[in-house]
Amino acid sequence: MTSVPRLEDNRTESTLGTPGYRRFVLWDLDHTLLDPAGFGQRSIRSAFSELFGFPSPDGVSVAGRTDRAIIAEFIAATDPALTDRQDEVQELAAEIAERTRSEFRSRGGTTLPGATAAVEALGSRGDILESVLTGNLEGIGRIKVTELGLDKHLDLSSAAFGDAHTVRADLVAHARDRAEAANSTRFEGRSMIIIGDTPLDVEAASAHGAFAVAVATGKYSVADLAAVGADAVLPDLLELDLLLTQLDV
Ligand SMILES: [Mg+2]
Repeated sequence: MTSVPRLEDNRTESTLGTPGYRRFVLWDLDHTLLDPAGFGQRSIRSAFSELFGFPSPDGVSVAGRTDRAIIAEFIAATDPALTDRQDEVQELAAEIAERTRSEFRSRGGTTLPGATAAVEALGSRGDILESVLTGNLEGIGRIKVTELGLDKHLDLSSAAFGDAHTVRADLVAHARDRAEAANSTRFEGRSMIIIGDTPLDVEAASAHGAFAVAVATGKYSVADLAAVGADAVLPDLLELDLLLTQLDV
C-alpha cells in the first residue's frame, strides 16, 4: 500500500455560492466496476464485419484505450481507405449493442466484488459527485451501467465516453467541463479522483493533476500500477474501508 497525501478539498472552489461538491469521482467501467464479458468488443467486431464484409484484426490492444482508438486501429490495420467510415462503425456498434443488450448479463456481464457497495458508499455521502470515465462508446457504456443498476448513484450527465476521443486523458477535461455545466462546480487537480485498472487510467489522471486510484482487477498487478505512479493501489474494491480512508472521505 502506498502512502497517500491528503486530498484537496474543492469546497472553497465551488461557484455561484452553492455548497457544491467537494470532489469529483470518475469511475472506469471495464475491469474496474464490472466484468464486461466481451460485450462491447462483440458489438464493435460485429459492426466492423457487417459494414466491411471482413473481420476486424486480432492482436489489437484494448486495455484502457478508447473504443474510438481501437476502431481506428482496426481500420488502419485492414484498409486505411476506410478511415472516413469510422463514425459509421461506431454508430452501428451502438445499435448492435442495443439490439443485443439482454446478452450483456446472460453472457456473463456482472459487477466486480465490492463495486456496487463502493459506488453506493461514495454516492450516499452527498458531497461527492460520482460519474464515469470510460473508453466505451456511450451507447455501450450506458447499457452496462443501467443493466447492472449502477446508474442510481452515477451522474451520467457528467460522464465521458470513448466516442469522440482517441486519447483517454482527453476524456478528463471533457468530464470536468460537463460536470461544471451540470452542477455549477469547477473541479481542479486533486479534487478529481480517477479510479481505473490500467496504466492509461493512471496516465489520464496524472495528465490533469487528478488523484489516481488504481485497482488490480484487470490485467495489471498492484506492482504494475504502483510502478506507473498511481497515488493509491488496491487489490480490489472489497477494500472499501481502506479506499475511503485513503480518499479521506
Ligand atoms: Mg478498465
